[in-house]
Amino acid sequence: MSEKLKKDLFSSIRDIPDYPKPGILFKDITTLINHSVLFSSLIDTLKERYEPLDINFVAGIESRGFIFGAALAYALKVGFVPIRKKGKLPFTTVSEKYSLEYGFDEIEMHIDAFRNIKEARVILIDDLIATGGTAQAAVRLIESVGAKCVEACFILDLPELGGSEKLREFIQVFTILDAGLENGH
Ligand code: AMP
Repeated sequence: MSEKLKKDLFSSIRDIPDYPKPGILFKDITTLINHSVLFSSLIDTLKERYEPLDINFVAGIESRGFIFGAALAYALKVGFVPIRKKGKLPFTTVSEKYSLEYGFDEIEMHIDAFRNIKEARVILIDDLIATGGTAQAAVRLIESVGAKCVEACFILDLPELGGSEKLREFIQVFTILDAGLENGH
């Protein structure tokens, strides 16, 4: 990905101070995804990265991971698997607890999400990694049904919270933008 595209993607993400509660600087990606060129260039870049890796599924974390994940799955011509907050999926689920930058929660996935493909190769995707709690739980979910999380992909990393570094102890992690860069501006 060119430095220009990176810079443009970075500046397209809007900062909302004190949302959803005081002290949180919320990274609003709606201003990236409503930009036709930036959104499509981002998905094209991810497609190029993952096309050679023999991927079977893209799994996206609710809710913003659905947006990037479904677009990427379409581009790769593979299936999309939603990882959802507790109680949202109608069939039998596997579930994992996790802690957020703000609060605690539990995520679930359908037990047959990977269509019984043996050792399905999965890319996990979300908009952002902060503490990494959600992503770690998602990797546990994927691996609990015998699939392989080939790489976890995040559009934005908040490296000061240590989540991406911690996750790298378990699996390969790809982050496109680094919010730590902001400190230099
Ligand atoms: P974490 O488990 O701490 O890595 O949190 C990651 C999840 O929470 C992702 O699904 C993000 O969309 C969301 N999230 C956490 N912190 C922020 C933030 N500062 N701005 C936007 N989304 C966030």
